[in-house]
Amino acid sequence: MNAMQSTATAGIDLVTVGSGNGKPVVQPPVLGGPEHTDYFLLNDLLDDEQRALRQKVRDFMDQEVTPIINPYWERAEFPHELVPKLAQLGVMGFQIQGHGCPGMSNVTAGLVILELARGDLSISTFSGVHSALAMTSIALLGSEEQKDRFLPPMARLEKIGAFGLTEPAHGTDVVKLETTARRDGDAYVLNGHKRWIGNATFADYVIIWARGEDGHVGGYVVEKGAPGFETEVITGKTALRCVQNAQISLTDVRVPAENRLANVHTFRDTEKVLLASRYCVAWEAVGAAIAGYETALAYAKQRKQFGIPLAAFQLIQHRLSRMLADITDMLCMQYRLSQLMDEGKYSMPRVALAKMHYTERARAILADARDMLGGNGIILDYHVARHLCDIEAIDTYEGTDTVQSLIVGRDITGYNAFVPMAPVH
Ligand SMILES: Cc1cc2nc3c(=O)[nH]c(=O)nc-3n(C[C@H](O)[C@H](O)[C@H](O)COP(=O)(O)OP(=O)(O)OC[C@H]3O[C@@H](n4cnc5c(N)ncnc54)[C@H](O)[C@@H]3O)c2cc1C
Repeated sequence: MNAMQSTATAGIDLVTVGSGNGKPVVQPPVLGGPEHTDYFLLNDLLDDEQRALRQKVRDFMDQEVTPIINPYWERAEFPHELVPKLAQLGVMGFQIQGHGCPGMSNVTAGLVILELARGDLSISTFSGVHSALAMTSIALLGSEEQKDRFLPPMARLEKIGAFGLTEPAHGTDVVKLETTARRDGDAYVLNGHKRWIGNATFADYVIIWARGEDGHVGGYVVEKGAPGFETEVITGKTALRCVQNAQISLTDVRVPAENRLANVHTFRDTEKVLLASRYCVAWEAVGAAIAGYETALAYAKQRKQFGIPLAAFQLIQHRLSRMLADITDMLCMQYRLSQLMDEGKYSMPRVALAKMHYTERARAILADARDMLGGNGIILDYHVARHLCDIEAIDTYEGTDTVQSLIVGRDITGYNAFVPMAPVH
């Protein structure tokens, strides 16, 4: 018998248990702790409170989310049963100070997002849309009265937020958005269409960005049930299947004047929110990359081919080492960026560089991890396939790799390459 034949029947060296219907259930590899990926000991730089919170979020994801998320993903349903448990973590609102929000530092918020994303990108996206986009819009651009009114129930997840900026005809060039807001007595009347809006099918507060009669963009909190506000879920997605992304139609939707965000004057104000949320998305990419690496490492230690664990093969070790180097690079960069954010030394190009770099690395790591799991890499049970699909959406939302590089490129060269020169013919 040659080596190929001797291993042809070798099973996966994982725990198998009968499901009761004769079909074996293969337990996925147990994911490792922070020490597996924290190669340069960044955890040592955290205080006890930060370490405890990070562990709490990790445990929540491992114990409450990972065991149930795949069927929801397959059915493209949002796991509403998780919302009260997510609320108990007390992390919604991330860095927002006061109004019932946790007021975390940028480093702490980043680690929370990393752990949410390591567990599942749909859950981290739901949390990001709610906290980093909807709540942050109100926190950065609302009046004190608006913050007091909207933020406390959102921090408790009793009210859920969404952020309606993108339109069917305006994604990257959303600065050209066409939805309109017209003042009529004590209300604004909104008309237009939005696309891709996460959480919008069930959200209580949807921040709609619309162009006023003065030509400037404003933010309007549309409350659930407003007549003329209609959503249609986007079906057939191959990424973030649990997230309910919607196409929104606004037909003469009346929004009380007190729901117009008080401190939005131009689109530049909207960009303040996008900077804050793009920073969070960068952390999501790091979390997803860690999930891929940890699963590939655990699998390689257990799966035998030619009679020995995959982890003992030189080429596998090379690939795992490259993944770990990339993750260490991302963690160090992102830790420093978080410090800069805490010190107020942030800029859109700095955040764009991070988002561009990590998303590209995370896509590569997850593709490599999927390959390393062989056929099992395409089965949801092993969790890499879901992350690999989901990272595609992370690449696109908040601006693609290309768009981030144009932001950095404009900063370092002084040339704006977003809009091409006029055609020569
Ligand atoms: C899963 C998901 C969730 C989302 N959630 C939300 C949400 O909650 N709220 C919300 O408002 N939006 C949301 N979005 C929208 C998201 O921000 C947009 O999809 C994104 O900005 C890209 O816009 P687009 O899809 O219209 O692509 P386009 O802008 O049409 O871009 C298509 C391609 O052209 C490239 N491109 C565009 N301009 C240039 C240029 N100047 N030079 C070179 N290349 C260029 C892009 O990089 C991309 O590769 C979500 C999107 C997805 C996929």
